[in-house]
Amino acid sequence: MTDLGLESGQTEELRNLHELKPSKIIDIRGAICPHPLNIIRDTIINLGDREILQAICDHEPTAKENAPRLCIRRSYPYRVIEKNGLWHIFIQKIEKTQPRLRVLNVSKVFKTNHGKVIALDNVNLTIQEGEFVCIVGPSGCGKSTLLNLTAGLDKPTQGEIWSNGNRVSGPGSERVVVFQEGALFPWLTVIDNVEFGLKLRKVAPEIRRTLALDYLKLVGLDEKFHNSFIHQLSGGMKQRVALARALVMEPAILLMDEPFAALDVYTRETLHEELQNIWIESHKTIVFVTHNVQEAVLLGDRVIVFARNPGRIKSEYEIDIARPRKIDHPEVFLNTKWITDDLKEELEGQLQYKTNEKEVVYG
Ligand code: ADP
Ligand code: MG
Repeated sequence: MTDLGLESGQTEELRNLHELKPSKIIDIRGAICPHPLNIIRDTIINLGDREILQAICDHEPTAKENAPRLCIRRSYPYRVIEKNGLWHIFIQKIEKTQPRLRVLNVSKVFKTNHGKVIALDNVNLTIQEGEFVCIVGPSGCGKSTLLNLTAGLDKPTQGEIWSNGNRVSGPGSERVVVFQEGALFPWLTVIDNVEFGLKLRKVAPEIRRTLALDYLKLVGLDEKFHNSFIHQLSGGMKQRVALARALVMEPAILLMDEPFAALDVYTRETLHEELQNIWIESHKTIVFVTHNVQEAVLLGDRVIVFARNPGRIKSEYEIDIARPRKIDHPEVFLNTKWITDDLKEELEGQLQYKTNEKEVVYG
């Protein structure tokens, strides 16, 4: 018996996880489709708080990489034990009592030469672990301001932001931002850009390389571009690299500020599909800012509508449509229309309304 020594917690209690009585044992030998990780994830859903799952598995990547990653992301204690050529994965479910993100009475006032601008006025928002939340609204309604405050790049004038139970007081690697323009380093190659944050974290070179390659594959960047410099890439490829660079850090929350706004419609559609697939696979907590209502409906579990002057939350919609969602799905169309009507009402004639068969844009 080999103990792979993988564990996410440090307490004595967790060291003995594999010696405690599991509440559920599943044998997932031979599972390929559905993927063994999906079976583990679906089984965990039905466990109670602190109950233990034992999964017996013959799929090495699930035991050594995928299940540990899932546990680290959700802060579940786990152990992986190898025995007679099989892996026994022990996972303890810990119910989250903390929301992933809490924005409490947040206001932000900028002083300019023309006077004060109330970019955000008493904003309250709670986001749970694994939610995909889209923030939509006309330009100038404070979307980027809220994202920057959440990222810790700026401080609220009033109120507080809490990330997983800790008050945000500056940037942190558990909150990573992807901007409209990828903000990639032009002097580094694609692969070195993706590895950059890991290097700062002093991750060993071979592990860095493996992780970077995994994530470049996940975002669908062709291998032949791995050693290219950023200026040699199209806009769509740059955003794929930016996404890989953010995801490779395994952030607890991914903050995206109009990441696809500068792309042509067809590239954007492909990236929508890929981001949906990444989310289906990872259930990462994502806050996605856009001024494109259709994009928000396509991607979000929830769409928060912002109004401006002063910037504030106007309304909120639950988007309960099965994924992956397609742009021509009737429910996507209907939800887009409702939210668009809501925004139109708000803007009362300030709206520059441009429409074609692909998108509805405000600005
Ligand atoms: P959005 O991302 O929704 O387009 P922003 O968050 O960028 O809106 O801006 C909200 C308001 O705050 C706008 O009126 C903008 O001009 C103002 N603003 C944003 N950042 C600054 C800043 N650094 N200094 C002064 N005003 C700012
Ligand atoms: Mg903005």
